[in-house]
Amino acid sequence: MGEFELIRNFFAAAPCAQVGEGVALGIGDDCALLDVPFGEQLAISTDTLVAGVHFADPCDPFLLGQRSLAVAASDLAAMGATPLAFTLALTLPAVEADWLEAFARGLNLMAQGCGLRLIGGDTTRGPLCLTLTVFGRVPRGQALTRSAARPGDLLCVGGELGNAAGALPLVLGQRSATPAIAEPLLAHYWSPQPQLALGQALRGKASSALDISDGLLADCGHIALASKVRLLIENDRIPVSLALQEFLGDADAQQAALSGGDDYVLAFTLAAVELPTLLADGWPIHVIGRVVEGQGVGLLDVHGQDITPTIRGYQHFRSE
Ligand code: ADP
Ligand code: MG
Repeated sequence: MGEFELIRNFFAAAPCAQVGEGVALGIGDDCALLDVPFGEQLAISTDTLVAGVHFADPCDPFLLGQRSLAVAASDLAAMGATPLAFTLALTLPAVEADWLEAFARGLNLMAQGCGLRLIGGDTTRGPLCLTLTVFGRVPRGQALTRSAARPGDLLCVGGELGNAAGALPLVLGQRSATPAIAEPLLAHYWSPQPQLALGQALRGKASSALDISDGLLADCGHIALASKVRLLIENDRIPVSLALQEFLGDADAQQAALSGGDDYVLAFTLAAVELPTLLADGWPIHVIGRVVEGQGVGLLDVHGQDITPTIRGYQHFRSE
């Protein structure tokens, strides 16, 4: 099967690759064409996933398709953007029809769940690697950036943390667990649900936001730096799942919630007056701390004592 047949069979023919609202021209020409309504801005983000670095190799291609798009779409959620489209640059060691069929199926499922249309890409031979670029739209000036957190704001997260990091020993086959524990943890790892609706609900309300990909402490550090403030996190207010606590024990579960990556849950700051309406509307918001003057991130125990650890999230190329 040649490159063009591959693109046609597995990608251009997928339901998520058909033109529709916001996409004037999709796969097949030199460029795709997007319609951006007047008064809106394009939000764009790229993520690369390398076999053996970002996912185990070999792994289930269906789950990989799902997860790679979820990870990319999570950046749209973090900006409060409405999903529009995505491109896929795929580097493959060989053409295996079964692998491609399952990968495209997982990708399509997540694309349709997120409201993202596949509008193009590139297909090359080499070690397995995926680059996804997502496009969203957001009313001009309303994107949720990292740089406007203010002292006095509350620090919040959109759900339980640490589940994906907890799942890693299961993914790598280093440990096993009963289905009651393994299933929810693995689901968080393989099909994270980008918090797109929550991100859009936070437009005009949150003062800053991001999606937690490198761990709560490390990612809160990004908001602190960009906003020139200090974020104080209360350790006992961080939501941790029962499955994670049972699997790792309390101390390691807490560690996974603080420093484990891959959660793709939103972390954001907002003025306290915004909270009651958001909670009344049913959004899964957990207040875990507050913004104060200063810099960096601090972790507090129940007595308000500083217990900030020195270990932070994962960084490529970090020399240690
Ligand atoms: P060009 O040579 O003009 O860059 P290509 O031959 O690489 O075009 O690709 C042909 C068409 O197929 C283009 O519209 C491109 O965006 C699309 N395409 C290529 N690879 C993929 C892929 N993996 N998924 C989706 N679309 C793809
Ligand atoms: Mg090309």
